[in-house]
Amino acid sequence: MIKSKSKKILIFLVLLAIVIIPIATIPSCNTNRDNGINIVDDNYGTPKINSVHVALGVPEDNDSTDDYDIIRSQYIISYNKDLGVANWVAWNLDADWYGDVPRYSGNFIADTSLPSQFYKVKHSDYTNSGYDRGHMVRSEERTKTDEDNKSTFFLTNIIPQTPDLNQGVWLKLEYYCEDLCKQQNKELYVIAGGIYHTKEKIKGLVTIPDSCFKIIVVLNRNQGLKNIDINSEVIAVVMPNISGVRSDDWMKYSTTVDRIEFSTGYDFLNCLPKKIQAIIEAKQITNVANLKHSNSWH
Ligand code: MN
Ligand code: MN
Repeated sequence: MIKSKSKKILIFLVLLAIVIIPIATIPSCNTNRDNGINIVDDNYGTPKINSVHVALGVPEDNDSTDDYDIIRSQYIISYNKDLGVANWVAWNLDADWYGDVPRYSGNFIADTSLPSQFYKVKHSDYTNSGYDRGHMVRSEERTKTDEDNKSTFFLTNIIPQTPDLNQGVWLKLEYYCEDLCKQQNKELYVIAGGIYHTKEKIKGLVTIPDSCFKIIVVLNRNQGLKNIDINSEVIAVVMPNISGVRSDDWMKYSTTVDRIEFSTGYDFLNCLPKKIQAIIEAKQITNVANLKHSNSWH
């Protein structure tokens, strides 16, 4: 009787070990593991895509079936075949990316790198829609080579934006990024995309975002993941995709990464230790003075 009971306990313990050991050893950006020696805080993850553009982590949500990764040397895109637009676009930015090649002069380009069964959005799909073809990676941010610049004209890098958003307050933040890179020698890690709740589509093909978000981690030149600490600067904005915002100050739309994570369902900056994520994702820039550098564009 006793023997069979201890046998059962032994079997239970073996089964428990089979379950626990793999869970405890799976490396992941999203999990903090206490290995008993160091407590979580130096636990930086490794992005599942090896690229400078997602060095702080590949954003992930609970449903990977509508996340198709487009990997280019100029940026990384998570494309959503159901929406006809990106879930998010991630890119690194510093003065090196800015050059002097002329803006690509052709039409916007259908992205034929997508799987054959995906609809490929065309230039003409936007025509007469009332919406601009709004770049996520800005054309001017990829001006070192013609190929770099042309890559920003793939329609997978484009989201419908009102002219007032695209040419107004969104552009002002793009100017500010340029200023940070060129005048203040900063290294930026940028993620941008749309927030889609109403899901209205242009011609039934291209979903119009209710608002557009941008997250910018601002580091000193040549810094990366492991230079980020609780004092690092993060700009987060959500701008409404409406008319009438042309002359607004971008700071008006300052928010937190936490709120963007809540609205989009994505976990951003997920290779940072949880404790650092918790702090910097809750920060909100309310004054340019908080950025510790001048802002000529606000
Ligand atoms: Mn634009
Ligand atoms: Mn996060």
